[in-house]
Amino acid sequence: MNLHLAQHYGMCFGVRDALRATHDAAIREPVTILGQLVHNPVVETHLKTLGVRHGDLGHHESAETHRVVITAHGASDSQRASWRQAGHAITDTTCPLVKKAHQALATLVQEGYHPVVIGQRQHVEVRGLVGDFPEASIVLESRDVLQIPAGVKLGVISQTTQPLDRVLEVVAEIKRQHSQVEVRFVDTVCHPTKQRQNALEEVCRRCPVVIVIGGRNSNNTRQLAEKAARLGARVHPVETAADLREEWFRGVTDIGITAGTSTLDETVTAVMDRLRQMTPN
Ligand code: SF4
Repeated sequence: MNLHLAQHYGMCFGVRDALRATHDAAIREPVTILGQLVHNPVVETHLKTLGVRHGDLGHHESAETHRVVITAHGASDSQRASWRQAGHAITDTTCPLVKKAHQALATLVQEGYHPVVIGQRQHVEVRGLVGDFPEASIVLESRDVLQIPAGVKLGVISQTTQPLDRVLEVVAEIKRQHSQVEVRFVDTVCHPTKQRQNALEEVCRRCPVVIVIGGRNSNNTRQLAEKAARLGARVHPVETAADLREEWFRGVTDIGITAGTSTLDETVTAVMDRLRQMTPN
């Protein structure tokens, strides 16, 4: 039985830095995280042991502490300003690559483009991206392109964790349906997402079964699972080693493993160890 760990997998620098900053703030004073810092239940449990509380980015009354933490997913400038006006101190852990997406969208709007974001309407990152631009169109799939207003030049960016191949499909559809106007696309899919998606292709070439490790509500973990399924693998998403089932591996000689950008190294190691126990040579 061979285990093939993807060349690029697991926690990205953006999540790692956000965790470190939150940890440092939490040992100095009580803090409230506005949302889920990372979509990872293991990390959430660790933060609980530090007494970290959770609040809602959209509701000031949800935070009892003076200091609040904006997550790596970011927030709109208006949300940041409203928390400051309400008297809170902010530890802002927005990932620099999410900030880059905000800047790209702001520049497009300044240059007169109608803003279009390819991503999940309800995802916290997308809500932050469009928070200062209520006129923005949000599309996830080609069939959503009909919602974009006609006759205006379009400035398109993407949620950082969308798979680039799917984003490019949507961009092509936008260009097809809006061929009379200029469509400018700025690629804001983050580098770690691209690396993990590309590395997964190599894993899927060798392995009929792929384990994807990450939180159930982590977008990039779900995107990895969906990509592996599209490439023909039998996919088993797990949050921890305890989720693994022996029957998944009967008659299988090559097992692929990858992990989302909010998955801890120790979780990946625990899954690998458990797999080795389940599938002895
Ligand atoms: Fe930053 Fe990308 Fe990690 Fe999100 S997935 S925190 S954008 S590096």
